[in-house]
Amino acid sequence: MSFWGNYKQIVLRNCVDHSLEESHLLYWRNKLFAATVQYLIPLSLVAFIPGLYVAVVTDMWPLLIADLLVVLAFVVIAFAPGLSVHFRKSLMTLCLYGVSVVLLYELGMYGPGMLYLLAIAIFVTLIFEFRYALASVIANTLICTGFGVMIYLDWGSSYVVAEYDMEAWIAVSSNLLFLCTVSLFLIPQLFSGLQQAFDKRNAVEQELKKNQMVLKESLIQLEEKNEELEKFAYIASHDLKEPLRMVRNFMELLQKKYSESLDEKAQKYIHFAVDGAQRMTCLIDDLLNYSRVGRLHTEVSRIDLNELIKEITSDYYPDIEEGSAVITASDLPVIEAVEVSARMLFQNLISNALKYRDGNRPPKISISYEDLQTHWKFCVEDNGIGIEGDYLEKIFDIFKRLHTNTEYSGTGIGLAICKKIVEQHGGKIWVESVAGEGSCFYFTIEKTFLQN
Ligand code: ADP
Repeated sequence: MSFWGNYKQIVLRNCVDHSLEESHLLYWRNKLFAATVQYLIPLSLVAFIPGLYVAVVTDMWPLLIADLLVVLAFVVIAFAPGLSVHFRKSLMTLCLYGVSVVLLYELGMYGPGMLYLLAIAIFVTLIFEFRYALASVIANTLICTGFGVMIYLDWGSSYVVAEYDMEAWIAVSSNLLFLCTVSLFLIPQLFSGLQQAFDKRNAVEQELKKNQMVLKESLIQLEEKNEELEKFAYIASHDLKEPLRMVRNFMELLQKKYSESLDEKAQKYIHFAVDGAQRMTCLIDDLLNYSRVGRLHTEVSRIDLNELIKEITSDYYPDIEEGSAVITASDLPVIEAVEVSARMLFQNLISNALKYRDGNRPPKISISYEDLQTHWKFCVEDNGIGIEGDYLEKIFDIFKRLHTNTEYSGTGIGLAICKKIVEQHGGKIWVESVAGEGSCFYFTIEKTFLQN
């Protein structure tokens, strides 16, 4: 660090009480005091040279001694260790008073003594609390009265005797006292305004901290509850699968072995029971998938989406053939994601596009993307039945379906899974649609995705 930097740090260390917080006004008063000391020492050295010259030429040695003492006192204020900040401030004020009295005595009322008295009153109001500022105005009054008495008695230095005149002194000193009193009352107003602003900011900060803590706690609780719920869904659905499989198998066995002895009604009932068990299996599988997202598979890998879409399309070949569907995909990028999740995401959207097709036209599905710097944005567009405006957000909720099972089979979990996957990849999902014309499912995925 430079010499000047070092010097400033030492003065700052000695002249500021570092146990005070920045929101405390005294901290800033001390800082102002420290800055004054920092600049006053080099400036007083500069003032010392003309002072020395005047003292030698005019034989005013008290002036030179006062100058010397003040410079010495400044050095003590700035560098002496172990002194309290309050003591340093008081010592500085005393020195300044000493200089102004010597100046008044040696150079008379036309010298800088009166200006010094005004400057001290303002300075004290800035660096001390109100009562000290009041004491400084009283001190100024006493000094002015003292010099008034000296003028009246014709006593003192040649300057006091020859140059001071009572009427001029009363005029000048009463003006000085007036200005000191004005500053005594005006400057604290600024400080009290500042203190109020500090207090307000403190209160807001405290409130914010409290809210943040509450929020953090709620978030932890929410995460725990979510985890519990997911575990519950996983265990419940896992355990439900076995008895369900048994019901289905026995129903099918019943149908096979006793079909001849069962009448048409009984056959119908068995068919409903098998169909119900089938749907229940789908529901459980979807629930399992939902609870597994982000829990079971978390490994991120590079995925060539062109390959992925090719595989998904071949899985749906029978549906595509049957409906003469056309699936087109632009030259898709290689992304970083959890492979199982990415597959499930595209698979759900493509299978929905095939499922919710308009019977009057062959399905046309196109998959495109945009590079958004930090994210990839994808669009799976179809020309199917579309979605009414009121449901564009709701369809992403779990179990939300817009159709009965006789119209379109399903569980209402597919898009909720998509939403969960996208959010776990740092993105969001939404849909734009015109009922009767088709839908565009958009979603984004963070490029440098890291599992939270
Ligand atoms: P499911 O298909 O099992 O009902 P999803 O969560 O996949 O469940 O979809 C929720 C609802 O959103 C569906 O019931 C359907 O009404 C609507 N939907 C989803 N995809 C499309 C689509 N491509 N076109 C029209 N409606 C759709």
